[in-house]
Amino acid sequence: MRTCAKCGASVERLADCSMAMNLGDGEVHWCKKCLPTPSAELIIEELERFMSTVNKNSEEKSMNFTEYQAASKKTAIYPRESMFYPALGLAGEAGEVANKVKKVYRGDLTKAELKEALSKELGDVLWYVAALCDEMGLDMGEVAELNVKRLADRQARGALGGSGDDR
Ligand SMILES: [Mg+2]
Ligand SMILES: [Zn+2]
Repeated sequence: MRTCAKCGASVERLADCSMAMNLGDGEVHWCKKCLPTPSAELIIEELERFMSTVNKNSEEKSMNFTEYQAASKKTAIYPRESMFYPALGLAGEAGEVANKVKKVYRGDLTKAELKEALSKELGDVLWYVAALCDEMGLDMGEVAELNVKRLADRQARGALGGSGDDR
């Protein structure tokens, strides 16, 4: 059913719909009450408003790394007090990621299949990152934040292209 992006009223009938826009993922509609005379300015304004609600919703849906670490902890079944298990698991899952990419290179997997596969494999990588953070008493959210800060610092010093652990 087609509904107005602003008030939710049905715009199933052509007569009720003031504007329809195709945003790639599908059409978005506005009723005549919400968008009586869609001028170019009004259309842009409405689109920006609509996109900001879409972005806000998707932000609310995703979790931050601190929340993820807490959630993934509940499924951590391995010999505890062991940094080796998650470290080796992380290397193993990174290998699985590389293996999927290899299959595309070899022609055994399409790009779309790779995307689907990596949506799971990269999650496996994350799981072991979280487990290793746990073992080390690190907050995964803080690890991510520190990384962004270090990248920004490197960029500011014009050293982004170099190599080494402590640039
Ligand atoms: Mg895996
Ligand atoms: Zn409306």
